[in-house]
Amino acid sequence: MKRISRRRFLKTGFAGAGMAALSPSIVSAASPDQRENIIYRTLGRTGLKVPVVSFGVMRSDNAGLCKAAYEKGITLFDTAYGYQGGNNETMLGNLFKNYPRNSFILATKVKPTTDREGRPNDQTSPEEFLDRERTKPMNTTAAIKWVLSNSDVTTTIPGMTNFDHLELNIPILTDIKLTDQEKNDLVAAREEAGLFCSGCRQCVSSCPHNLPIQDLMRAYMYAYGYSNPSMAKILLGELEISDNPCSSCNACTVRCPSNFHVKEKIADILRLVKVPSEFLA
Ligand code: SF4
Ligand code: SF4
Repeated sequence: MKRISRRRFLKTGFAGAGMAALSPSIVSAASPDQRENIIYRTLGRTGLKVPVVSFGVMRSDNAGLCKAAYEKGITLFDTAYGYQGGNNETMLGNLFKNYPRNSFILATKVKPTTDREGRPNDQTSPEEFLDRERTKPMNTTAAIKWVLSNSDVTTTIPGMTNFDHLELNIPILTDIKLTDQEKNDLVAAREEAGLFCSGCRQCVSSCPHNLPIQDLMRAYMYAYGYSNPSMAKILLGELEISDNPCSSCNACTVRCPSNFHVKEKIADILRLVKVPSEFLA
């Protein structure tokens, strides 16, 4: 497929190459009534009105799914040059060339310029990074609504890779009120040791090696929470940490209110540095 320049992508949102084949949508378009009830917020000082749910396209290679989301009223699609080797942007460009330019917003990000190569050791395989910690079901609807209860949050960008995800998130476009059950689920989730770092920064000053613990936990979240070890590896490359700095610590002095075993998680995620990128694509 022909590539488009980033400038052109950002300006026009469409590619010059042939139209990608679209999967038939199994989600019906929003009715005028449904559209009328969509909750919009203003994005910072841009003046742009965006629905409270946007589309994280990172792991989706299905233009039909993006089309269905658009027809349901989602207007902001978040991608990045690095997603799917550049094909993610191209997919969106090919899709949106058919729609009025002022009817959608494409958010994209810059890709780091270098990859890091290495050799896997005999204890590490890419599959390992796909399976762990995926057993606990999570009430994502409750989590998104809770985030939106902060009126300073303009929109949420859940990653969606299939129509079930879309069906789950569409009702939030018009209803962000937490139900009693959702509140209970949030309270229950608070008690569990987390997979997701809250970014509270309470760890920052307690590591004598001044490790970027938040970022390392973010890489861990990409690998295990998003099942996207490639993204985790890119982040680890940016951090430029290769050998495990924790190995020289007899005891970890970091205390995390989310009960993260930081030392353990750092040792775990840094194994990715030695996995060649092509194994993770
Ligand atoms: S203390 Fe724990 S939750 Fe808070 S930023 Fe550090 S790792 Fe994340
Ligand atoms: S073991 Fe804990 S204190 Fe030591 S370097 Fe690692 S995170 Fe920092």
